[in-house]
Amino acid sequence: MNKRDARRRVEETIANRESDLLELLEELVSAKSVTGREPRGQAVMLEAFDRLDLEVDTWEPSVERLSDHPGFFRTSSYDEHGYDGRENAVATIPGEGEGPTLALSGHIDVVPADPESAWESDPWALRRDGDELYGRGVSDMKGGLAAMVLAVETLADEGIELAGDLYLQSTIEEEAGGVGGVLSALERGYVPDAAIIPEPFGLPNVGIASAGVMFFDVTVPGKKAHAAWGHQGVSAFDKACRIRGALEELNEKRQDRIDFPPAYGADPSLEGHVTNINLGVVEGGDWPATVPAEVTMKGRVGWPPGETRGEVREAIEGVIAEAADDDEWLAANPPIVEWAGWNAAPHEVPRDAEIVEIVERNAESITGEEGSFVGGNAALDERFYQRYYDVPVVTAGPYGPNLHGVDEYTTVSSLLETAQTLAVSAIDYCGIAE
Ligand SMILES: [Zn+2]
Repeated sequence: MNKRDARRRVEETIANRESDLLELLEELVSAKSVTGREPRGQAVMLEAFDRLDLEVDTWEPSVERLSDHPGFFRTSSYDEHGYDGRENAVATIPGEGEGPTLALSGHIDVVPADPESAWESDPWALRRDGDELYGRGVSDMKGGLAAMVLAVETLADEGIELAGDLYLQSTIEEEAGGVGGVLSALERGYVPDAAIIPEPFGLPNVGIASAGVMFFDVTVPGKKAHAAWGHQGVSAFDKACRIRGALEELNEKRQDRIDFPPAYGADPSLEGHVTNINLGVVEGGDWPATVPAEVTMKGRVGWPPGETRGEVREAIEGVIAEAADDDEWLAANPPIVEWAGWNAAPHEVPRDAEIVEIVERNAESITGEEGSFVGGNAALDERFYQRYYDVPVVTAGPYGPNLHGVDEYTTVSSLLETAQTLAVSAIDYCGIAE
């Protein structure tokens, strides 16, 4: 069989296998694998791999083995749940020739569905309404996992043997940083020549970049006093507001200065907001009638490719130090900045990488629409491949405008198009055995 016939056959077959796709997706959604509780979802994936008779490797990540890696940070999901029992799974479909190795990679964890009562139907039961599918994870990204399985199953059923190896992998804790997931798989030796991750960027758009993300705490000191003698105290809250003002000013300057068109390729409302500083938690004080002695603000900074983590840290620490210098109390009692939690660098894949061109071409021909290059505004698993292993990686997945939200949804048609794009791109990239 030549490549053209093979591609036509898998496209046709996948178009008729909606029920297989939905059956697996239904099981995956019901498995309720919120980050930290991946095993129930992973069990469904392992059964699917088993049905396909694939050789599978499973393992728990090890912090000791990962902690020296430049991409490592201790994730909140590790702190809360540890890694015991939280296995990753990689199935290898050996190639029958000398072609390059491709990984199809997806994460099995999902974010919580709270408040569940706000959903129109049970978030942990797949619901179909016409072409639309509802449920936690249908787009992010159990739909992508089901599409990956359907793609591989179809290649096997059509008797198409690839020339290069294919990794079919289901990993943990992407939503908490992916350190124990994709990074652990790469460190275990699953380093392909290229990778595709079907996160819901909405075909025919293809993702080639992701933002860097870091979390930080700013602890601002004050001086405790009874409210009646408030003039003798120093409100940490008032001082924190000065720091907040300085960060807000920095945020505006950065948003004026920093541009990155792929970040708003699929969502024009993001133009002018490709970098952002958010203060998401403020804690402080202990009594309404007491001047607060300490306030901690917990923030997140996100930024597109183009800056290093060091430069971003310096910018934030710099404006905080400057604001403190302008204030008599803070100059003598400087705020403390700590960087803890999320610590992910941005990534960007060259547009002329072979896998990018292949996936872009196939996504456009399968959907019949013109796509654009897009970038993720949050850190993605993709960064590990590109930044630390120089493996070009492209994001290509279903429609999913409402991911992480209430009534998360996608469409049957975009999931089938995803499976088609994955299967024909594997044929194009890995080649077909003689
Ligand atoms: Zn995702």
